[in-house]
Amino acid sequence: MAHIKLENIVKRFGDFVAVKDFNLEVADKEFVVFLGPSGCGKTTTLRLIAGLESPEEGDIFIDGQRVNDLSPADRDIAFVFQFYALYPHLSVYDNIAFPLKAVKVSKPEIDAQVKRVAEILQISDMLNRKPNVLSGGEMQRVALGRAMVRQPKVYLLDEPMANLDAKIRVDTRAEIKRLQHEIGATTIFVTHDQVEAMSLADRIAVIHQGLLQQIGTPHEIYNKPESLFVAGFMGMPTMNLLDAEVTGQGGESVLQVQHTDVCFRLSPERQANITSDAVENGLVFGIRPEHITVAASQSGGQQIPADVHLVEPLGPVNILDIRLGTHAETQDPILLRVRTHPAFQGTIGDTVWLNFDEAEMHLFDQETERSVWVE
Ligand code: ATP
Repeated sequence: MAHIKLENIVKRFGDFVAVKDFNLEVADKEFVVFLGPSGCGKTTTLRLIAGLESPEEGDIFIDGQRVNDLSPADRDIAFVFQFYALYPHLSVYDNIAFPLKAVKVSKPEIDAQVKRVAEILQISDMLNRKPNVLSGGEMQRVALGRAMVRQPKVYLLDEPMANLDAKIRVDTRAEIKRLQHEIGATTIFVTHDQVEAMSLADRIAVIHQGLLQQIGTPHEIYNKPESLFVAGFMGMPTMNLLDAEVTGQGGESVLQVQHTDVCFRLSPERQANITSDAVENGLVFGIRPEHITVAASQSGGQQIPADVHLVEPLGPVNILDIRLGTHAETQDPILLRVRTHPAFQGTIGDTVWLNFDEAEMHLFDQETERSVWVE
């Protein structure tokens, strides 16, 4: 199908820079998800690829051809928007057939294509209905069908499930994943929902304030965040991020979480990656709630005692807020979120014993906001 390359793309709206020096390659048949908070530049980047916006700087290539000056119609791309704009006066059949009729495909060929797509999307029995009697999920499938019928080189999907309720959203998500696999089309999908991104993507591109923060497999994005933003954005609850400092010299460096008793002796490899610049800038220690274990009593090893501040039983898991210490200046509590088995019995004020999975610890430079340990 198609290979997409964005090279040093910059998009400005007046003085505002919506997309900043954006570089990205999407392989043929790959499913890439653009993930980021509202206003970070996801849709603008998608519109640049589609040709609905022009970059002020940089080049866009599809299959090695520079497409900056090609009109949207000449880029062979199907774009499905957040709001599925179906023609209300046309039947489902005619809505799906519309792009083929527009380029004067023969009637028998249109019929074959519409039926093929309807079968894949499981809407064959709805072809004679009008959009106003369809559910949101069904309308979304018709919108997808209209995009698929053309068999374009590239699919660009902009929050295509934003208007669906939770259950249909999960079903449609599975459908889209299966379809993309079946059709093998290069796809870029925009969402601000991290679960959607994790479940769909071959690779996720995390975007923040117009900047590509990191691109990687869902596993890499979750487990090896390269920046403080990615670390804090992914996960529910999100990663614990606490100010820290490194003390000691040579072979005996210790990472100390500020104003708490939490400290770790660092291995030579981990020490070696902490530059003097990072130490000077200040450090942020990170660990996910599932990488801390809590015990009601002391059982040896390097355990840290702390108090339970809050317990949230969520069904399959409990989320505990643990009080590690107090900020010297503000007197605010320093809290750590921990995920426990639902059978864990703990109440506010209990003393518990914490164990940290040191292999899962993260460290960031406070000023550059980049990871000290992930290359
Ligand atoms: P959302 O998830 O809310 O759709 P997004 O990540 O897709 O957000 P964009 O729609 O790409 O964000 O917008 C990025 C920034 O550019 C926003 O601050 C937006 O207000 C601004 N922007 C987008 N289009 C224009 C325009 N035509 N004129 C001026 N500013 C614009």
